[in-house]
Amino acid sequence: MTLEPTGNRAIVIGGSLGGLFAGMMLRSIGWQVDIYERSAHDLDSRGGGVVLQPDVVEAFQRAGIDTQALGVVAHERYYLNPNGSIAQPMPMRQMLTSWNLLYGSMRRHFPAQHYHAGKQLSDIHQASEKVTATFTDGTRETADLLIGADGPNSTVRHQFLSDVHYQYAGYVAYRGLVNEADLEAEAATLFTERFVFYQFPNSHILQYVIPGEGESLELGKRRFNWVWYVNYDEATELHRILTDKNGRQRDYSIPPGLLAADVEQEMRLYADTVLAPPFQKLVRATQEPFVQAILDLGVPQMTFGRVALTGDAAFIPRPHTAASTAKAAANAIALAEALVKHNHNVSKALKSWEPLQLAYGRQLMASCQQLGDRSQFSHGVSRFGE
Ligand SMILES: Cc1cc2nc3c(=O)[nH]c(=O)nc-3n(C[C@H](O)[C@H](O)[C@H](O)COP(=O)(O)OP(=O)(O)OC[C@H]3O[C@@H](n4cnc5c(N)ncnc54)[C@H](O)[C@@H]3O)c2cc1C
Repeated sequence: MTLEPTGNRAIVIGGSLGGLFAGMMLRSIGWQVDIYERSAHDLDSRGGGVVLQPDVVEAFQRAGIDTQALGVVAHERYYLNPNGSIAQPMPMRQMLTSWNLLYGSMRRHFPAQHYHAGKQLSDIHQASEKVTATFTDGTRETADLLIGADGPNSTVRHQFLSDVHYQYAGYVAYRGLVNEADLEAEAATLFTERFVFYQFPNSHILQYVIPGEGESLELGKRRFNWVWYVNYDEATELHRILTDKNGRQRDYSIPPGLLAADVEQEMRLYADTVLAPPFQKLVRATQEPFVQAILDLGVPQMTFGRVALTGDAAFIPRPHTAASTAKAAANAIALAEALVKHNHNVSKALKSWEPLQLAYGRQLMASCQQLGDRSQFSHGVSRFGE
């Protein structure tokens, strides 16, 4: 699936989904690509569910990755009443996958010798039609193009747009995974292969089934994945939620196993008080819940000479349209197309790529903000409209 080598080289900063999409798409048009990831370890231990959108499938197909078995199908949506009965069934076919399956598939596909773990970008310098990245270990790499796929706290973005930061949206997502075998039968039957929601004042929780341990798609070995949006005040409460069990203050998320005991206890108490019974059972069956603050981020510009921002480094739409991962894929596909269209002339390609990507990011942000605000703040800003 890879075209003849063009002699062009790209450096990708960030080796999560956004960086892997960019790396795969540039390789598919004949570029030599090296990915540099700050973390020294594989990132595959903490992902939850991801709605599989067409752009992700498209990127996989262009890279030559088999797309036959990428997830679990949900055939319908259920909206629940407070007593757990079904308020509204709605036929809707969707494919659900896991962060781990996407990451694992791309890591296996992308050549290991061009994926450099434990390399943290510190600085970028541009001169004579080249861009040079300097890493914290003092090493340097030079290329024709640099992609900043380094997420919400992007070092690349900071270098060019130092005054652009993400904002806390006013609520967090508690999340959890439960092995199919570990959930009580009645709740398991309700949730299996369905997208199930429970909406109540200033909050909602949802669940869908995703691949299990080792990316398993086998019935009985998959996982129930849930996401629950809960309001917390930024000034008085968020700090406590984002302090892990070792007392370390985290930027915007706490991974499984590290939630502080008092935060976890409070979340479980809320669950037993406000959720519909099937969701109470799901939260109770969860061994290591985790939490992510919901963020808003949008940049005014995505290209800077021979540097482009993609994925969460540029725009973070709230998760309500399940579009973040697909956006990272779409950014990468469009970039590869622009480079081919402009005969691999980086300046021309980036100039034609940027306006549509900015418009896409802005439109996603606006629609997700509207959905999120309607769900979380219709009764003021209080938790559960108390
Ligand atoms: C561990 C993990 C689990 C996730 N789980 C889910 C999920 O379950 N569902 C979902 O929808 N989304 C999940 N996401 C978010 C999802 O991956 C993103 O919304 C989307 O894929 C686009 O992300 P990204 O690659 O642009 O940014 P990110 O996923 O934030 O990745 C940025 C990467 O850049 C690296 N980095 C940062 N600074 C530097 C630097 N200076 N030098 C080198 N590398 C750097 C980071 O270590 C990180 O790996 C997860 C992200 C991570 C990191």
